[in-house]
Amino acid sequence: MTAKKPLFNRLALIGTGLIGSSIARAARAQGVVRSIVATARTPATRKRVAELGLADQVVESNTAAVEGADLVIVCIPVGASGAVAKEIGPHLAAGATVSDVGSVKGAVLRDMAPHLPKGVHFVPAHPVAGTEYSGPDAGFAELFVNRWCILTPPENADAAAVEKLAAFWRALGANVETMNADHHDLVLAITSHLPHLIAYTIVGTAEELGEVTKSEVLQFSAGGFRDFTRIAASDPTMWRDVFLANKDAVLEMLGRFNEDIAALTKAIRNGDGKTLFDQFTRTRAIRKGIVDIGQDSAAPDFGRPHPDLKEPLPKPYSSGE
Ligand code: NAP
Repeated sequence: MTAKKPLFNRLALIGTGLIGSSIARAARAQGVVRSIVATARTPATRKRVAELGLADQVVESNTAAVEGADLVIVCIPVGASGAVAKEIGPHLAAGATVSDVGSVKGAVLRDMAPHLPKGVHFVPAHPVAGTEYSGPDAGFAELFVNRWCILTPPENADAAAVEKLAAFWRALGANVETMNADHHDLVLAITSHLPHLIAYTIVGTAEELGEVTKSEVLQFSAGGFRDFTRIAASDPTMWRDVFLANKDAVLEMLGRFNEDIAALTKAIRNGDGKTLFDQFTRTRAIRKGIVDIGQDSAAPDFGRPHPDLKEPLPKPYSSGE
């Protein structure tokens, strides 16, 4: 990617963990903002952000961060976004764009919008990109490349402000999609929130087994369990807030999931191999589709090579490739 012309003068990042610090690194690498001011809740994180040189300025308060900023991105757990909007509202510059990166959009819109003054453009966003790691050391400039960033502007949003934020995310390497917040929450409930709930559950279930079995769980973890443990290592605060904030959509998808797992339970009990085979054939095609559109690696190790293996292993989908 080549350096871009700055789209914004001063980017304020409130929260500088995995996502905030990745935005800082990518925005600087791409030259899409003239300067970056960052803050975080605790002195320890602010100190680390300064040490890493992620921003031109690291300040102690959210209100100081937004002074004079024409783009403010709130990168904190969604449950805290309303209180932060209330705090920064009176200090925002006229004409500034305020956005966020929260994994739930309806609740963020409801919690933040009432506190933002007229003349400030509010364009919530969700970069659908991440890892199970947290904090400023975990971020990297390429996190958003080829990933989707979903914008959920309110109905009365200023079209030029929405387009400018879309251009910002495109400059960071993301593909941009716009949809309404409730639709976002329903889609993400099935693609992200429910899978996390299942991972947290299955790893918890294994953990409750006896000591002997537990060591076998770890020893043989490559048999599918390993990939659940990666997801289940995701930040507890962030995910607690996601489930509380997206309760209705998650419960809707969980209801469907429970029906489907009951059907598979019945098929196993009845020795109904055809039902199992048909379902597994359908899901295999979905996986292949995800790899084909470039949203994951076809490598058997999901792109995380084993340190002892020198040669890449053969791809699992040999037909037609
Ligand atoms: P993170 O690495 O844990 O960083 C969170 C940041 O928010 C830290 O700077 C933290 O400050 C600050 N913070 C925590 N609680 C706060 C509070 N109550 N008030 C003000 N600031 C607070 O988290 P992250 O992964 O970057 O996630 C941030 C947001 O991005 C979340 O809304 C999440 O839903 C969304 N998101 C995450 C992912 C992902 O894969 N992780 C992907 C897409 C979107 P201290 O360090 O000083 O405590």
